[in-house]
Formats: sequence, C-alpha cells, structure tokens
Amino acid sequence: MPIYEFECPNGTITEKFVKIGTKEIICPTCHKKAKKVISLCNFHLKGGGWFSDGYSSTRDNKAKKK
Ligand SMILES: [Zn+2]
Repeated sequence: MPIYEFECPNGTITEKFVKIGTKEIICPTCHKKAKKVISLCNFHLKGGGWFSDGYSSTRDNKAKKK
C-alpha cells in the first residue's frame, strides 16, 4: 500500500498507509475530515532549482530594501 499525506482543516498533516483511491481520512488529532495531499516529492525534484533561487533572490530583495 502506498503512503499518503492527509491535511485536515486545521492544517495537521497525517501520513497514513491507505488503499489506492482513498480520498480522505479522519484526522486522528481533531477528528475532522482530512483530505489527501498530492505528494510534493516530484515538485521538489523538478523545482528544486527555482525554489532555492527564489528564496535567495527574495532575501536579496529584502537586503536591498533595507
Ligand atoms: Zn486535524
């Protein structure tokens, strides 16, 4: 079974083994419905470059302003 991440309305992320096709679970913390979050692993692999670039340029902009 794959492991998925679920996020409840409170923003709590719960990792859980569920059957394929499971769209939501009950959050173990607040017992509200937690919806499946698409794994960000692929985005990190594809966007690792721009993410770090964007972060550093943001810091540069802040440094220039002050
Ligand atoms: Zn919750």
